[in-house]
Amino acid sequence: MSSAAVQAVQDAKPVPLLIDGAWRQSAAERWDPVYDPATGLVIARVPFATPAEVEAAVTAAARAFPAWRATPPVERARLMFRFRDLLERHFEELALLVTRENGKTLEDARGEVRRGIEVVEFACGAPTLLLGEMAEDVAPGIDSELVRVPVGVVAGICPFNFPAMIPLWMFPIALACGNTFVLKPSERTPLSAVRLAELLMEAGVPDGVFNIVHGGRETADALIAAPQVRAVSFVGSQPAAKAVYEKAAAAGKRVQALAGAKNHLIVMPDADLDRTVPAILGSAFGAAGQRCLAGSVLVAVGDAADPLLERLAAAARDLVVGPGTDPEVDMGPVIRPEARDRILGYLDEGRRAGASVVLDGSRPARLKGDPGGFWVGPCILDRVDPSWRVAQDEIFGPLLSVIRVPDLDAALALANRSRFGNAASIFTTSGRAAREFRYRIEAGMLGVNIGVAAPMAWFPFSGWKDSFYGDLHATGKDGVRFYTQVKMVISRW
Ligand code: NAD
Repeated sequence: MSSAAVQAVQDAKPVPLLIDGAWRQSAAERWDPVYDPATGLVIARVPFATPAEVEAAVTAAARAFPAWRATPPVERARLMFRFRDLLERHFEELALLVTRENGKTLEDARGEVRRGIEVVEFACGAPTLLLGEMAEDVAPGIDSELVRVPVGVVAGICPFNFPAMIPLWMFPIALACGNTFVLKPSERTPLSAVRLAELLMEAGVPDGVFNIVHGGRETADALIAAPQVRAVSFVGSQPAAKAVYEKAAAAGKRVQALAGAKNHLIVMPDADLDRTVPAILGSAFGAAGQRCLAGSVLVAVGDAADPLLERLAAAARDLVVGPGTDPEVDMGPVIRPEARDRILGYLDEGRRAGASVVLDGSRPARLKGDPGGFWVGPCILDRVDPSWRVAQDEIFGPLLSVIRVPDLDAALALANRSRFGNAASIFTTSGRAAREFRYRIEAGMLGVNIGVAAPMAWFPFSGWKDSFYGDLHATGKDGVRFYTQVKMVISRW
């Protein structure tokens, strides 16, 4: 870092920790800059919390647990109703904050906040969701009851790409189920989580029930290792998810670790291109490809490729790249310069391996942005070989690889060879092809003529294979089961 950059970090506003109902400035030695990716300017500085601070947050959550557990579910639900109202009232402000620290367009940010609010609405149903089961006379005069109880202190570790929605996947359900929570937002996008916490406090969350610590891997590891933490919700890249899963499981904790992806979009020759092209465009280049549900490999079946690519390339070339706050912009920046270098590195690697470069995003045709922003335009590589890294690795940027295959069997075999199984889509007007796809594809979230197969809050976010480690997924009834354990009571009087 240059001395001017060091000064900018020192001058930036420190992001506070939330411990036991009070905002605190960290005593951390390490502070990282938080950037606006559309300008490259430092907008805040984030601490890497000390071990004592992590311990204080976990201790506060453990202390708050007995009273929160004993708070009737209907009252916990009322907290969620109040929180939901505040989120609605501050909707635009939250979306702007997401755009500011993440870079995505305001329209995408609004979508993210909306999806997050829906989880809070789901959590408002806690009294019903927590109902137990009962059977009379399992043997003469003996009754049996199943009761759902919270697990205790839960830790949530989040990625940068949905700074509001992913924390909202976790803590509203965990809290409504009677747990207390310590959140570690992404160190690259910690500001939205802080604002969510302020609103949760305004809604009346008791001290210690919800806490925030900041930092990176060491902070996450300290949370996982803390004896009072009973369950860990993680969302992030595949290597980190696997490491978190292994560490938490080895310590005897519950863990759900949602990981990376390489999503295949299969296009049949009978697909309706008027609908398919915008869906693929949104899937591959929306949020600059930084979604775990982004389409990354376009599998063109039979003679689908040429007419599809002609239209797709023209539409992608037309996308305006620039700051997410500009209503004319279709695609914002990527999160950091390192991400841009990684994405363009893959583009180069594909080119050198022999792919044909349909669109080179290193110089976006329609760039409106500040020169300091972290820009990459849409990239399309055609005639990619399935054995290349560009076809196999998660790139997490606006780079779409096209692989041509002769038939649906070959398309399914190709997609199923991927180590990942987060999402997959088919575009077709054939019910038979759609049914074959749905039956045979090895992925957990499927789109039929849909480019981003995102389940709503009352369903689980259900990745497979190396896209998920654990048993119970995030959100929906899986979320409730993850954040509760059952007690069986068998009685004779
Ligand atoms: P990341 O793995 O770099 O970081 C995620 C979080 O884990 C951060 O809070 C980070 O501080 C922490 N972390 C990093 N390394 C760790 C380690 N070894 N041990 C413990 N914690 C660690 O991910 P990112 O770049 O912030 O997010 C993008 C990734 O998240 C992509 O791979 C994307 O596919 C994935 N993602 C998956 C889903 C899903 O539902 N499957 C959703 C969103 C994002």
